[in-house]
Amino acid sequence: MIDRPDVQATAPAREPVDEPVDEQPVDEQPVDVLGVGFGPANLSLAIALQEDLPQAGAFFLEAAPDPVWQGGLLLDGSNMQNHPNRDLVTLRNPRSRYSFLNYLFEEGRLIEHLNLPLEFPLRKEYARYIDWATRQFQPQVAFGARATDIAVAESDGTPEYVVTCADGSRQRARSLVVGTGRTPFVPEPFAGLDTPRVCHLTRYLPTVRELADKPPRSIAVIGGSQSAVEIILDLAHRFPQARVVNYVRKFGLRLKDTSPFSEEGFYPAFTDYYYRASRASKNELDAYMRPTNYSSTDADVLHHLYALMYEQRLDGDQRIFVRGNSEVRHAEPDGTGVRLEVEEVHTKDVSTDQVDLVILATGFRDLGPGQGQEAYPALLSGVIDRFEFDGDGYLAVDPDYQVRPRTGGTPPLFLNGLCESSHGIGDAGSFSLLSLRAATILDGLRKQGVV
Ligand SMILES: Cc1cc2nc3c(=O)[nH]c(=O)nc-3n(C[C@H](O)[C@H](O)[C@H](O)COP(=O)(O)OP(=O)(O)OC[C@H]3O[C@@H](n4cnc5c(N)ncnc54)[C@H](O)[C@@H]3O)c2cc1C
Repeated sequence: MIDRPDVQATAPAREPVDEPVDEQPVDEQPVDVLGVGFGPANLSLAIALQEDLPQAGAFFLEAAPDPVWQGGLLLDGSNMQNHPNRDLVTLRNPRSRYSFLNYLFEEGRLIEHLNLPLEFPLRKEYARYIDWATRQFQPQVAFGARATDIAVAESDGTPEYVVTCADGSRQRARSLVVGTGRTPFVPEPFAGLDTPRVCHLTRYLPTVRELADKPPRSIAVIGGSQSAVEIILDLAHRFPQARVVNYVRKFGLRLKDTSPFSEEGFYPAFTDYYYRASRASKNELDAYMRPTNYSSTDADVLHHLYALMYEQRLDGDQRIFVRGNSEVRHAEPDGTGVRLEVEEVHTKDVSTDQVDLVILATGFRDLGPGQGQEAYPALLSGVIDRFEFDGDGYLAVDPDYQVRPRTGGTPPLFLNGLCESSHGIGDAGSFSLLSLRAATILDGLRKQGVV
């Protein structure tokens, strides 16, 4: 580790540079650890570093000027999908002051919170917890700094990363931890459509708020996820006159698998087991684990939706429809909306629908060569030739989340929150094992002699 106590306490200056990296290296000292993204994953790492290795020089780049945890879908009444103690710290260090419980305590809401007749906390409250923790690391984060390129350059014979941001500024680092969250999955018929009439769930709230003065009359929600059902219920409330059609490729909307036996997939032991499994076994385990997190819905919102649709039919005024076995094959924006061509997947009958708005509740992309996956995070394009892919075409990631270098002279690079295809469901971009993963990455950094 480079002995630079100043780095931990204050933000290193990020110099705007116009020249290419090789021609004009920035002259600030490199930080030991540079995190790209400051969502819960890298925030949890920042806390682990502060608690276990306060002398390490860590700095983070965060694209959002004022990040709000999953702010695009912070719906009134929506709740968390995990036990609140699976927070930023507790599994790693139950005595940490950055726990959800301590947040409630410091905010003076603990006793009231414990009296809530809710199984899980409101998502809104968890977002405030994340915000509370984030603010305590402000000196170590550049907000509004979107990393756009990563390169390796040599400084006095030592390779280091140079990360360029959208504003042209650059940051040097001895190691990188990429924690940018997963890329939204946009199904083929909607890929490349440039219209405000189609939005991914991550943009849901800003999109519908803009339509408040001119409410849409017909809306298609694509996908059968928890988010899809939450969005339909929100739309029913927000635009009560609108016709809302949910297109689902499978037979219908499924209940989430909440069996405690299945939930053991969110144990660290499962992560180890999964990591060692062959790709064929991984595929089999994925098929079993899928309904614990994907294309399935918690009972509370699912039952609420079913009862609401029943009541609408009772009133002779059905406005919400769930169309199972239905896949959108073609989408074409026109002057006021989007024309959809929908295929019944078994009968092959094709119907059309004209809607004012399409919401894609279609989830996110994992790393891999398969359909709906991406080979590697786009941000790594400039350095990807330096890293190994395995025989099945997956980016080779070590158990400690370091991406395996193919060539010597490549400084350590870790992925934080992007490794479901190598580490299994516990890594599904969720809070479940976040704090333990931070500890594993910290150990990896230590082994590499970076901190
Ligand atoms: C609607 C919704 C609800 C969810 N609810 C739950 C839940 O209840 N429980 C649960 O366990 N999980 C939930 N999740 C999963 C969620 O992904 C995790 O909770 C958590 O947000 C993952 O943290 P992360 O840091 O890996 O990614 P993110 O939260 O996506 O954070 C990544 C950060 O990186 C920044 N970034 C991206 N690209 C760049 C770049 N190029 N340069 C700089 N910064 C960049 C982003 O601005 C963002 O702040 C939910 C997800 C969604 C979409």
